[in-house]
Amino acid sequence: PSITRGVAVDIPKVSWDDIGGLKDLKKKLQQAVEWPIKHSAAFARLGISPVHGILLHGPPGCSKTTLAKAAAHAAQASFFSLSGAELYSMYVGEGEALLRNTFRRARLAAPSIIFFDEADVVAAKRGGSSRNSSAVGERLLSTLLTEMDGLEQANGILVLAATNRPCAIDAALMRPGRFDLVLYVPPPDMEARYEILRVHTRNMKIGGDVDLRRIAEDTEMFTGAELEGLCREAGVVALRENISATVVSVKHFETVQKSLKPALTRDEIESYSS
Ligand code: ATP
Repeated sequence: PSITRGVAVDIPKVSWDDIGGLKDLKKKLQQAVEWPIKHSAAFARLGISPVHGILLHGPPGCSKTTLAKAAAHAAQASFFSLSGAELYSMYVGEGEALLRNTFRRARLAAPSIIFFDEADVVAAKRGGSSRNSSAVGERLLSTLLTEMDGLEQANGILVLAATNRPCAIDAALMRPGRFDLVLYVPPPDMEARYEILRVHTRNMKIGGDVDLRRIAEDTEMFTGAELEGLCREAGVVALRENISATVVSVKHFETVQKSLKPALTRDEIESYSS
């Protein structure tokens, strides 16, 4: 980690090339994240106000977190990570303090990206069912709104929030100047699965008999996280068979494929797109 004005910060090492598929989405993120940071003078010259908040939504395990990290890497921005569930579970007042403190540190370390995972837990629509829990949620939400509005004046700070349930997000966060850009991160199609398999076998010794295209065809409904797991497991199977193995071959992949089923169903995946 480098030290910027007394704040220890990390710039993630993940790059766009570590993410298979999602070409258009990467381009949109590049424009929304990299441009305002790298070309802030041009934005100022033309009087364009950059996007301050981006909401990424889609099924779990399909690279929302990885995209946020890659965006930070490309923009050479400090990366701060917050989890909605974690904030929610803290003692009264601690969650708000952590939120405010994170925004403060991000301002000091700018350019910065604040990644907000499981955003729906904190940014859930007001007036939820449980009275106690919604009081906690409301205080966190109003702190988040105040901090996001403060970004109007700040340069080089962007909030990327991720959720599996975009319809649960409070409408106040979707107003202009807050989450201006909403992007759906879909599960991978055939071509994307092939690219994801290539990414995760890049550093593996795989045999010439392993046909990644064929595996991509046979893994419909698998998420990126599951494909990553498939590659890793195939390696473990090879080692289990022979601890001196020098290559992971097709039979090892097949063994894992036989026992792996995608966790998400088509219906579930479709429900994530709304
Ligand atoms: P969650 O909603 O569960 O937090 P997520 O959408 O944020 O999930 P990530 O945490 O980014 O997903 O991805 C989980 C793992 O799957 C990562 O280790 C990542 O390397 C891998 N992965 C997911 N999608 C891709 C992809 N398109 N290319 C390469 N790896 C991927």
